[in-house]
Amino acid sequence: MVSRTIPVDPFDLVIFGGTGDLARRKILPSLYRRYLAGQIPEDSQIIGAARSELDEAGFRDLVRASVEEFLPASKRDATTLAAFLTHIRYVAVDAKGEAGWVELGEMMREGVIHAHYFSVAPSLFGDLAQRLCEFNIANADSRIVVEKPFGKDLKTARSLNEVLARHFPEQQIYRIDHYLGKETVQNLMAIRFANILFEPLWKTEYIDHVQITVAETVGVDGRGAYYDTSGAMRDMVQNHMMQLLCLIAMEPPYHFDPDAVRDEKLKVIRALEKVRPEDIVRGQYASQGGKPGYIEDSENPNSRTESYIAMKVGIANWRWKGTPFYLRTGKRLRARTSEIAITFRRPPHSIFDDPDGSRENVLVIRLQPNEGINLKVMIKEPGPGGMRLVQVPLDMSFAQALGEEGTDIPDAYERLIMDVIRGNQTLFMRGDEVEAAWAWADPVIEGWEARGERPHVYQPGTSGPDDALMLMHRDGRRWREIKE
Ligand code: NAP
Repeated sequence: MVSRTIPVDPFDLVIFGGTGDLARRKILPSLYRRYLAGQIPEDSQIIGAARSELDEAGFRDLVRASVEEFLPASKRDATTLAAFLTHIRYVAVDAKGEAGWVELGEMMREGVIHAHYFSVAPSLFGDLAQRLCEFNIANADSRIVVEKPFGKDLKTARSLNEVLARHFPEQQIYRIDHYLGKETVQNLMAIRFANILFEPLWKTEYIDHVQITVAETVGVDGRGAYYDTSGAMRDMVQNHMMQLLCLIAMEPPYHFDPDAVRDEKLKVIRALEKVRPEDIVRGQYASQGGKPGYIEDSENPNSRTESYIAMKVGIANWRWKGTPFYLRTGKRLRARTSEIAITFRRPPHSIFDDPDGSRENVLVIRLQPNEGINLKVMIKEPGPGGMRLVQVPLDMSFAQALGEEGTDIPDAYERLIMDVIRGNQTLFMRGDEVEAAWAWADPVIEGWEARGERPHVYQPGTSGPDDALMLMHRDGRRWREIKE
């Protein structure tokens, strides 16, 4: 069973880069899942577009193989897959040339929603946008979806925005950050804004600090050359972790509406304090047991790119001044886990003799694995023996709480693609938001580049460089353990 759905109107969705890795791993399997959920109207078309000279049958084979490879057998069956494939079409198109555009124009139908997913290198975004207009394929309601990375600094992000803006207004541009499509991330908003319990405490008077961790066990395997031009700061912090930070720190929007939410996120980014060099630790994983280290993986013996970063970030506004946000992300770490932990302050006075009587509450929002929410609270330890206190989790794993539906959480791409069709931009980044995030990140990166800093080497399978521990220890705090 797949989760409940709200029907969408018929659509023509063109996937530029339909033969590429992202389309095969995420976009096509996600569309099949939405088909199973009954969300793809019968008169909709999914059109793959790339330079490869495939015919429709050839592309359908690729779609079938992608679904079979990237969805477990329990989540697919031959009959529905065959029915899904009847929606699939293909056109060979060159973003940089004339080939295929007239044919694509002829395939698009009037009176249905048009969406164009740019699942190609960002250097082609401008060409695609231009050709869609030149060949009169785009209309005033067409949506274009662009993938990350959205620039590598403020200058490149600005020029991408300018290129797209030449052909499409902001209301038609959907910049993907797939973290925003994750169920738990949206739950963060539900927790904050659909309950009275947390929001009154959601400020520096009651929150000691926030930790955001995105830990991976994999290295840069096979993507070393690309990753070496990026690094953890550009690849994770400037976009995904920044979005998480914004959702935690933003003021309540007046409505769950795209611009209302994005206005509030933008205010947070603009209020970020400049990060001091002593509040950043960068690392590179070492080789271990015959497995290459970062230097070998990147094939750049002089690489100074970080595969790990930990940093302390402050927000200069009334709500958050005095509550640090500690962010860390890295590759080849002990476990694959993503979580946000909000640590509340201790009660001002303990009436209990037990030294544990005033431990801090921690609200943990787990993004992966086992999406769920956990609140650590103090209770009395059961049994006689006086008032001994113990900290226990009030655990809400989605799988347990919601039964079958809780175990079958849609992939972020499923939700985001359907939001594109619905025309809902709430979970997509606005151009000014992306630029503001780069305006914050650029000086941080330029700082360590100007200082010529080399990342610290760390052992794979650990929680990162030892110096990152100091980042918290010197503030009298500790990182949470990295574990699944
Ligand atoms: P990829 O595997 O290299 O695929 C690129 C696609 O673009 C192929 O289908 C290719 O097909 C097509 N293409 C290349 N040049 C073209 C042209 N001139 N005209 C039309 N089509 C052209 O790349 P990818 O990994 O799927 O990544 C696609 C985008 O998603 C990139 O922006 C990437 O940064 C982003 N992204 C990828 C991932 C991921 O996990 N893969 C994750 C996040 C974001 P032909 O060669 O047949 O033309």
